[in-house]
Amino acid sequence: MIMILDETKILKVNPDLSGEEDIEKIAYAAEIIKKGGLVAFPTETVYGLGANALDEKAVASIFAAKGREQDNPLIVHVSDSGDINKFAVADGNEKASLLFSQMPAPLTVILPKRDIIPLSVTAGLDSVAMRVPQNTVARKLIELSGLPISAPSANLSGKPSPTKAWHVIADMIGRADVIIDGGDCEVGLESTVISLCYETPRLLRPGGFTHEKLCELLGKVDISDAVLEKLKEGQKAESPGMKYKHYAPDTKVILVKGNGDKVKDFLGKKYSEENCGIICFDEDISERSGRILVMGNRKNEEEYAVKMFDALREVDRIPDIDTVYAVLPETTDGISLAIYNRMLRAAAFNIIEL
Ligand code: AMP
Ligand code: MG
Repeated sequence: MIMILDETKILKVNPDLSGEEDIEKIAYAAEIIKKGGLVAFPTETVYGLGANALDEKAVASIFAAKGREQDNPLIVHVSDSGDINKFAVADGNEKASLLFSQMPAPLTVILPKRDIIPLSVTAGLDSVAMRVPQNTVARKLIELSGLPISAPSANLSGKPSPTKAWHVIADMIGRADVIIDGGDCEVGLESTVISLCYETPRLLRPGGFTHEKLCELLGKVDISDAVLEKLKEGQKAESPGMKYKHYAPDTKVILVKGNGDKVKDFLGKKYSEENCGIICFDEDISERSGRILVMGNRKNEEEYAVKMFDALREVDRIPDIDTVYAVLPETTDGISLAIYNRMLRAAAFNIIEL
């Protein structure tokens, strides 16, 4: 039994909680968290599936609802960076303080865990991932529950992460007790994950808080090999989530990388020869149709990031196609590193370099 309610309640709120009954709705959801239930809620990155991080049974329900592997640990969300030290060992850690000064942010920091956090949250690791979300609804839910909330993305394991309420509803009806519909997510990518458990800080998952920004703050920050490469057989994942198949639509995804003219040529041919779908920038193809998903223009990778997971769900709704060609940004600078990281997994590392 995963749920504590008989059926999933969907509660729609204004993103800024300005509606008359919005606070009451969040207070209701917070009660569900206190009782050990599951609440899906918006954050600035993607929607999360939350439960009381201190309640092992509630935490077990998260894994069951998502079909998540038991060895893939969860991020613990608090509403103030001052609370992190209650759950993770951060006192006297200068690098941690520098990161905390940036929060709330789409940034997760991994630190040694304190005993109060159950091992089921960290999948047996002696470290814990901590985050302070920026989103108004997420913060209010955490505040009113008075608890740390462990939450992975609110999708079925393997599916694209949810950035719109309908994505959550599609995956979590009959699995989560409450789904809070607070509109679309602003960043559209899961948080940047950085570990302070190595001698040099290490980026485990790129996201909206860029590697460049982390280096400005902390000096040298390593990037885990697994960010852009497939794990080799027998290689141990630094972040357990790296092992798993991720973000994949049912439609086969083939990535396309190259300069503007080559991409334009390639897509033009594919589009007229095959009944395929296309994910690309505005400049890459002059046609427009239901088979073409435009991710904004080449200079605005943030827009690509926001639209990416929605596009990966939308391709499965395009009739009569079995393949989608998805154009990548030309370089891996800034937020593009995160786009590469997610799209490589959605495409099972299938990439055409023009
Ligand atoms: P998700 O909750 O789906 O956004 O994924 C959270 C990511 O953080 C996964 O890739 C986890 O493997 C990773 N993670 C969480 N806790 C830890 C930890 N203690 N050490 C390393 N990676 C972690
Ligand atoms: Mg996830």
